[in-house]
Amino acid sequence: MYNKKAYELGSVRSVIRELFEYGKKRAAEYGADKVFDFSLGNPSVPPPQEVERAIADFVATSEPVALHGYTSAPGDAAVRKAVADYINERFGTAFTADYIYMTCGAAAALTITLGALVTPEADEIIAVAPYFPEYKVFAEGQGASFKVLPITRKDFQIDPEKLYEAVTPRTAAIILNSPNNPSGVVYDDECLKGVARVLGSRSKEFGHPIYIISDEPYRELVYGGIKVGYIPNYYKDCVVCYSYSKSLSLPGERIGYVAVNPEAADAKEIYLAVMGAGRALGYVCAPSLMQYVVGRCLRLSPDLEAYERNRELIYGGLTRIGYECVRPDGAFYLFVKVPGGNDEEFSERAKEYGILVVPGAGFGAPGYVRLSYCVAYDTIKNSLEPFAALYAEFKK
Ligand code: PLP
Repeated sequence: MYNKKAYELGSVRSVIRELFEYGKKRAAEYGADKVFDFSLGNPSVPPPQEVERAIADFVATSEPVALHGYTSAPGDAAVRKAVADYINERFGTAFTADYIYMTCGAAAALTITLGALVTPEADEIIAVAPYFPEYKVFAEGQGASFKVLPITRKDFQIDPEKLYEAVTPRTAAIILNSPNNPSGVVYDDECLKGVARVLGSRSKEFGHPIYIISDEPYRELVYGGIKVGYIPNYYKDCVVCYSYSKSLSLPGERIGYVAVNPEAADAKEIYLAVMGAGRALGYVCAPSLMQYVVGRCLRLSPDLEAYERNRELIYGGLTRIGYECVRPDGAFYLFVKVPGGNDEEFSERAKEYGILVVPGAGFGAPGYVRLSYCVAYDTIKNSLEPFAALYAEFKK
């Protein structure tokens, strides 16, 4: 006897994993330089040197039992205060340590927040397409019914009228992710104001707050001076889920946080529900050493130069060939419209050229493919010719 739902989740084939395995096989057959793997979203720049120095320094100078011991469940008090102070300094907000809960990355921050917000009366979670596929797993795992707002505008900003129609009395929260995986789009000021207006009016109408869960692993990965709006400054009923996985290139170290907006309705209760959800999910505390490290490295930025060069090359290269896509302002993804519109077929056929791209269907956006451009510059350079041949084939 075993849990059938969990079994299904564990045994379902992962498109990205299969592409990765295929890439390895193909590299062994034809050579690594004939494989253009754009499937994985792993940072390709190392963590800033200061992060490595901080790790070494904590290990060398701290008393080991304390350093590697548990912190309190929501995280070390000094680290939480440092995080809150830093947010306030950047965004003019009023967080305190009592609203910060350290987590194992954004994945844990999201599941915990969903666990805190989903209720029997309001069990609906809305994701805005294109969206990170794990949202469905996280939401359903917390007993939510998962609803998708399909793409409402060609530029992937959100049409407030369409959101208005999608929200119901059962909606607990909507998840926003900006900069976005898989499109790289940053929601602009007008978009965020529109979302805030609609949710504000629907909350009033339905007699309970509809929260925004702001998923922010890519906040620091933006190009050309673009500003990423801070959701608490647009809409008070919100919870921020942050991660250092991409901003400090630490995905394997599992560190991030939940920040409950102190001005949100029932903020204190939500924070306690966050603690309770974390407890029920078995998160004793986030990794202690990593808490101390990010507490010291809050002000560091990633080295964006390599990502930005890659963005220029891939966006310029593909659009010159004729591919259509929205110019990404952040993250390290490009969401490309498939000529002919069949994303599964395109991804399959691309493999014959050694190109690995992820079909858009899993992101709630069939007809597109996602490319992760956190790869070597030469991989992009050498992929442009095969991309052109693929385009010619599909444009027919
Ligand atoms: N949210 C989005 C949009 C992501 O792309 C990812 C990881 O790729 C996550 C959440 C999970 O991030 P973490 O590694 O911090 O758990």
